[in-house]
Amino acid sequence: MSIPFRMEVEDMQFYDPTQDWAPFSRKAEVRYDPLTGQSARILYYPIGDIPRADHAQMAAQTAEFCPFCPDKVERVTPRFPEAITPEGRFHRGESIIFPNMFPYDRHSAVGIFSGQHYVQLTEFTAPMLTDGFLNAQAYLTAVLAHDPESVWQSINWNYMPVAGGSIIHPHLQIVASPEATNYQRATYSAAQLYRESTDENFYDVLVAEEERRQERSVGVTGNGKVHWTVAFAPQGQIDIIGVLPGKSRLVDVEVDEWAALADGLLPVFSYFDSQNFTAFNLAAFGAPDVSNAYSVHVRVVPRTTLGLLGTSDNNYFKVLHNEALSLKNPEEAASELRAVFETKA
Ligand SMILES: [Zn+2]
Repeated sequence: MSIPFRMEVEDMQFYDPTQDWAPFSRKAEVRYDPLTGQSARILYYPIGDIPRADHAQMAAQTAEFCPFCPDKVERVTPRFPEAITPEGRFHRGESIIFPNMFPYDRHSAVGIFSGQHYVQLTEFTAPMLTDGFLNAQAYLTAVLAHDPESVWQSINWNYMPVAGGSIIHPHLQIVASPEATNYQRATYSAAQLYRESTDENFYDVLVAEEERRQERSVGVTGNGKVHWTVAFAPQGQIDIIGVLPGKSRLVDVEVDEWAALADGLLPVFSYFDSQNFTAFNLAAFGAPDVSNAYSVHVRVVPRTTLGLLGTSDNNYFKVLHNEALSLKNPEEAASELRAVFETKA
């Protein structure tokens, strides 16, 4: 079974005031997500130079009062009840996980993974990220043992305020719930339907098809433990997917697979930085059960403001139509990112 990469190119005609009113046209692409069928748009809008945000001043101003810095974190962050962990918090390397004071769900935690207050995109290291993910997994495992209903699990990251981060100190947000999010529900049910109608795992077929086409495929890390591709129908300016074939639940991912995930994120961050994207959203998803229909995957989308006014990169299309817009062609982004992977991954 192949993957449907459906796209409609719409052409708008107008008279161009900058070309002495000559007839002109500009395209917009509507692309359909090959799993869920949800549409996204690629606009041919001159993106120009992304204004590079300098977080150094904000970092300096917030360091003294940061609750996640090593001199305060053990004093000012909450502790888990004994049923989750008798130690109160989860520790691994520099990583510490504690309850989110303002929870998103029944189980909601925050994980820091570096003692450094401000970590620039190019300063993250594979051991730092790997310990952060492993510690998040230890929390999710403890949650599942204590509350077997909370099977909808995710590990998430808002890096920097423009991406929704309210604290500069890098931190993961880990969520477990008996209720799926819209994304979890839509992808899991579509992947199950795909399995029922084709007898194949959608993510396995996607990875194979992207690697055969070489249009959006970027590379592999950990000797094929994680396969990286740019999404055909992106959820933001660039939408990078890392798939872990053969793994369905986050709690089953192994140490070397987390390390392979970290190894792929480093060139992604380096690429974002080279493009002046200094913020991002990340989420790692898994199935609610051991399922041959679904694969663990991570999605990373850079965030930015646009132009001189600091215009948001989210507008009515994403907020009210639930339709992502991208000003960057996915195949072009993949070609640029592939070059970074070839030198760094
Ligand atoms: Zn800090």
